[in-house]
Amino acid sequence: MTTLRPRAGSRGSDHIASLSLDLDNHWSYLKTRGDAHWEMLPSYLHIVVPRVLEFFAKRALKLTFFVVGQDAALEQHHDALRAIATAGHEIGNHSFHHEPWLHRYEADALEREIALAETHIERATGVRPVGFRGPGFSVTPSVLLTLANRGYVYDASTFPTFIGPLARAYYFMRSNLGREGRETRSALFGTVKDGMRPLRPYLVPLPEGRLVEIPVSVMPLVRLPFHLSYIIYLATFSRGAGLAYFRAALGACQTAGVQPSLLLHPLDFLGKEDDIGLEFFPGMNLALASKLDIVDAALHEYQRRYSVVTMLEHARIVLGEMPVQAATVV
Ligand SMILES: [Zn+2]
Repeated sequence: MTTLRPRAGSRGSDHIASLSLDLDNHWSYLKTRGDAHWEMLPSYLHIVVPRVLEFFAKRALKLTFFVVGQDAALEQHHDALRAIATAGHEIGNHSFHHEPWLHRYEADALEREIALAETHIERATGVRPVGFRGPGFSVTPSVLLTLANRGYVYDASTFPTFIGPLARAYYFMRSNLGREGRETRSALFGTVKDGMRPLRPYLVPLPEGRLVEIPVSVMPLVRLPFHLSYIIYLATFSRGAGLAYFRAALGACQTAGVQPSLLLHPLDFLGKEDDIGLEFFPGMNLALASKLDIVDAALHEYQRRYSVVTMLEHARIVLGEMPVQAATVV
């Protein structure tokens, strides 16, 4: 098994940070949880995409949307998905079937999965993705090789935290999964070993070609997550404590010289009154205004400290192909 080691330093560009949103749809949460209703492919894209685009347009922020191929394959989502590309955001590949057990796929099935998503995402948005994030933070050397062979610039599937097994236990506790379903999801949200992976973006050593890995940021040393779903969850107890934790995590990244890469989800932009269900997901009992207020405050802080770039821009800075000063400064 190939060991992943950082090769590219990130010194001198500590004011760079990237931003992405995994466009997980209603059905993908049900699927991960083992709820048969997912096969109806319930969707909230028509609600959340216009809301999110308006939110980012107001803040002059450009980010990367990781789109699921199954959604791109349906004509009914094309307007929403194309609007993301038209607004100038980057489009990434988030697999076709959104199966968090992607790491169990054989090499040919993996190739088909990534290629199928690519085809449908390109058809829906007009953009061929060059960045990938695996569902459930599953990554293996064969995923990375497949991406490099297909001309991808970066992967963003690693989540170097020790909390993965805890998050998985929580998910299992709140699901109706039987033994088989749990076994398939045995590495959901990562293993304890994932907690040892690098925190900084780096070049993946590959026999041929090259690929940048951009990990989802966690707080250095303690390696606790600080993406917005966690901040919102903390804010259900205390808004001040949630935001203080976020600021502390960014401060720790600055001290450790880690360029953060912050992750968002559609549920960060959906409130109780949207009435989509998914009550099992933390923070879904909050009103929309409260959620947007927290996301806004956190992103304001993010923009105050950093030049916020898309994932592709971040990868190009790591590769030295894009001068740091040319990154979007907001
Ligand atoms: Zn996802």
